[in-house]
Amino acid sequence: MNVEQAYKDANALLEGHFLLASGNHSSRYLQSAKVLEYPKKAAELTDALAAMIREAGIEVETVCAPALGGVLAGYELARSLDVRSIFVEKKEGGMELRRGFEIAQGEKVIICEDIITTGGSALKAAKAIEELGGKVVAFASLANRGFCHREGSNIAAKPECQLPGDVPFFSLGDFTFEIYTPEECPMCKSGESEAVKPGSKG
Ligand code: ZN
Repeated sequence: MNVEQAYKDANALLEGHFLLASGNHSSRYLQSAKVLEYPKKAAELTDALAAMIREAGIEVETVCAPALGGVLAGYELARSLDVRSIFVEKKEGGMELRRGFEIAQGEKVIICEDIITTGGSALKAAKAIEELGGKVVAFASLANRGFCHREGSNIAAKPECQLPGDVPFFSLGDFTFEIYTPEECPMCKSGESEAVKPGSKG
């Protein structure tokens, strides 16, 4: 599975001049919703991710995704692993399980996202599951932005990574992009373009 090629084929790996949520600028941006546009392609990605999880001997009963961004990836991963799929939703300061979803004591849960950047949402989802008595056995994402260490990669966790170091993290590939403050952004300095906001906000 060449995940970078899969993103390029789906026009999900954008090139340009982007304003990130952090306020920094970058010349590349991952638009993961695009890579999940075609369910058969999405299933190929999550089949590959499920194979990595199985090979590592991780036992899973349930996949839980933080809504909204992780839901499609989580649902497809659950199908690939042939387990249950649930999702948690934002509340003030964290995430919570709603809609009648339940967790059994000791239930083995993987937290799945489309992209893991620093892992903040995934960590909030994990806390919600553990407060209900579930056991988070792994984290998973289609793409890793290179702040956290994923199994099988030589990229070490950076200080920004919020995932716990003692729980394995599986991802199809590392996507590490240069990030610039607006003051030092070479694209701004060249004056040829202005940074645009990509992503879910329109
Ligand atoms: Zn810029």
